Amino acid sequence: MKFNTDVLHAEQLHARLTGSYKPQAMAHVSPIYQTSTYVLEDFDTAVYLNQHVDEGFVYTRFGNPNNDELEKKIAHLEHAEAAISLASGLGAISTAVMSVVKAGDHVVFGDVIYGCSYALFTKVLTKLGITYTRVDTTKVEEVEKAIQPNTSLVYVETPANPTLKISDIAAIAQAVHKHPGITMIVDSTFASPYLQNPLDLGADMVVHSATKYLCGHGTVTAGVIASTKERIDHCRMPYLQCFGAVLDPFAAWQLMQGMKTLGVRMERHCENAMKVARHLENHPKVDRVYYPGLESHPTHEIAKKQMHNGFGGMMSVDIKGGMDAVRTVMNSVKVFSLATSLGNVDSLIQHSPSMSHFDMSPEERYASEIFDGQVRLSIGIEDADDLIADLDQALAKI
Ligand SMILES: *Cc1c(COP(=O)(O)O)cnc(C)c1O
Repeated sequence: MKFNTDVLHAEQLHARLTGSYKPQAMAHVSPIYQTSTYVLEDFDTAVYLNQHVDEGFVYTRFGNPNNDELEKKIAHLEHAEAAISLASGLGAISTAVMSVVKAGDHVVFGDVIYGCSYALFTKVLTKLGITYTRVDTTKVEEVEKAIQPNTSLVYVETPANPTLKISDIAAIAQAVHKHPGITMIVDSTFASPYLQNPLDLGADMVVHSATKYLCGHGTVTAGVIASTKERIDHCRMPYLQCFGAVLDPFAAWQLMQGMKTLGVRMERHCENAMKVARHLENHPKVDRVYYPGLESHPTHEIAKKQMHNGFGGMMSVDIKGGMDAVRTVMNSVKVFSLATSLGNVDSLIQHSPSMSHFDMSPEERYASEIFDGQVRLSIGIEDADDLIADLDQALAKI
């Protein structure tokens, strides 16, 4: 069925259609299985399930009914064979990456990516002798040029945090897969499955910080990976088993509630963001607006081709007057909350150079167009006029 039906009913609906729908106590909303372990029927079952943890529940680090329900839903929405849930977006990213790389490998990743993903590649993997090349992934030929005989991973974030650059997933996948043995992972957090499906475009694995749009209400940190069953099984055993970034069942349950409205929320996020971006583009106190829905955005054409239903709720804005002007605006907004994170129903404002991307050197930041006067806006589902008025009054105080 279509997205808004699927996001509510996928998997449960399948059970209804096949006549196997029998929730515990006939609860309409799944109960929370707040248990660390499971009673095993007898000795032989215990032995069998401990060796086949994907066939039943043994211990919550290996699986839990709430996490399982969430994982099946994510797999369905990302058109994947399987998915796995983890305790945070970085839990998902580090697990996915570690399931692919080994000592001595080389990885290629985008020059604009989430700050802690950058730290994973530059501070953690380097300790294993894994080298890297940062490239502008909006240029397929740069990705191709960076590939070495020992490259095992090409990691792409699109839309990219915080400058909203769009990389062409299909073109990169085609170039990467000329080399057998290279895995392509896409961080699709900014888009959510409502706006793009990287696996359909040729990526091997897709990761999300489910803390953001999937949850939508800012109540949990969570991450998901979707891919083939083989790759997801490999992420679970041994990586989740050993690293232990397990999503708590209550958090999984909250995510399931949040996700029910993903489609309608995204629709409003996109509509509001387009209005705010168009307004700010013509604002005298604003130098530049980075929003992939604007015709002025350098990778607007790729966004149009690869994203469906809209361009998302995220944008960055260069405010005239640098850091001092930013301080005034961020201290003056009333509807926007001064907070990092994104994808919540309510609007947030943050300063990327000093908050989400402080791990990068100033030179690297400027080369990646993350300028000192740049704020990142996560446009919520409030009334757009109120958001515009709030930004206007804050900009007027500069
Ligand atoms: C927030 C974010 C992450 C990290 O997710 P956490 O849930 O905070 O661990 C990764 N990638 C992108 C694009 C993000 O915005």
